[in-house]
Amino acid sequence: MSFIEILDGLSLTKSPLVCRFEGLIAPKSDSELEAMAQASRALTIQNFGRTMRLFAPLYLSNECINNCSYCGFSRDNPILRVTLSVHEVMAEAQHLLQSGFRQILLVAGEHPKFISRDYLAECVRALTPDFPSIAIEVGPMETEDYIPIVDAGAEGLVVYQETYNRGVYAELHTAGPKRDFNWRLDCPERGYGAGFRRIGIGALFGLWRWQEEAVALAAHLEYLLKRCWQAQISVSLPRLRPAAGGFRPLFSMTDRELAQLVCALRITFPQVGIVLSTRERASLRDALASLGVTMMSAGSHTEPGGYTRQGTEHLHQTVRGRIVAPDFQDGEDELAAGQFEISDARSPEEVANVLRRRGLEPVWKDWDQILSGV
Ligand code: SF4
Repeated sequence: MSFIEILDGLSLTKSPLVCRFEGLIAPKSDSELEAMAQASRALTIQNFGRTMRLFAPLYLSNECINNCSYCGFSRDNPILRVTLSVHEVMAEAQHLLQSGFRQILLVAGEHPKFISRDYLAECVRALTPDFPSIAIEVGPMETEDYIPIVDAGAEGLVVYQETYNRGVYAELHTAGPKRDFNWRLDCPERGYGAGFRRIGIGALFGLWRWQEEAVALAAHLEYLLKRCWQAQISVSLPRLRPAAGGFRPLFSMTDRELAQLVCALRITFPQVGIVLSTRERASLRDALASLGVTMMSAGSHTEPGGYTRQGTEHLHQTVRGRIVAPDFQDGEDELAAGQFEISDARSPEEVANVLRRRGLEPVWKDWDQILSGV
C-alpha cells in the first residue's frame, strides 16, 4: 500500500505503533511527562550515545516559483533575490569549514531555471572534497534527476510535507508546482530510489492542529522505515517563525507540547534522528538537546550569501515574480532576503561549548563517502 493510501485512510485505520504514539501525545500530567522525558533520554543515549551532530544550512538561492503563504521566499513577495554562483557557494562553504562544520545542508527555493539538476550537481561536486556529508533541501525532483546529484556526492535528501492536511495544504500553496500534494508526499521514496542514504522528513508546526500533524508524521516515519530500510531516516519539527509576507501561525504549539512530541517520537522510534534548527530560542534548544534531539544546526543564516556577503553584485528584486532593478534606500542592507528569522543566534563555537557543558559531545563529522563503498 502506498503512503498516499495510508494517509487518506488514517482517520479510520491506524497501525498499533501509531496508536501507541497517539497515546503518548495526549495531554499528560507533569509527572507523566517527566517519566516520558526520562525514558526518552535513556533511549537516546542507548541509540546515539552522548552525542549531537552539528550541521549548517548553506542557502544557494532564494528564487522560487511557488507561493507558500508562510514563506519569505514566496514568488509574490517583493524581496531581494539571488542565486549564488558555484564560486560564491564555495566561498560561503569555506566560512562554514573554518567554523568546524563538515556536514552541510544545501537549501534553495524551487526554480528550475536557476536551481537546476546540473547546477546542484556542480555545487555538490565542488564541495565534496571538504564536506563528507552533504544533503540537499530543494524542490522535489524525479528520481532520474536526483541520480547525478547523488553521483556527485550528496548523501542526504530533506523534504518536509509542511502539512499533512490536504485541505490546509491547498489553501496555503496558492501557485506553482508545489500545489501537487501527492508529488511532494512521494518525494522521499523517489530520492531513496536515486540512492540517497539519509532521508529527512518533517512538518511545519503552526499550520494545523499539532497532534493531528504529528500522527500523520509518525505514520509517514513508520512507512519510510519499512520502505526505505537502507536509509537513515530523520525527522524535523520546525515551528513557524516570522518571515517576509507577514504570515502568522494558524495553530499554536507550546514549548511543553514540543518537548512532549520530541519524547513521544523518541519512545516510538528509538533509532530515528530528531533534528532541531535555530528557529527555536537558545534556552529551549539547550533543554531539548538532552531530551531526544540528535542533530542541530548552529550559527545559521537563511539568506543566500549570508555568511560572507556573497552575491551582492547580482542581487535583483522581484515584484509578483517579475524582475525589477533593486531600489536600495539609504542605509539599507544590500543582502538577499532570508527565508525566516533565526531565534538562536549563537555561534557554532558557543553552541558546541554549551553542549559539552551538558555532557554531550558535538560531532562535526560522523560519515565519510569512503564508508559507502565498504
Ligand atoms: S517554502 Fe519552499 S517552495 Fe514554498 S515559497 Fe518557500 S522556498 Fe519556495
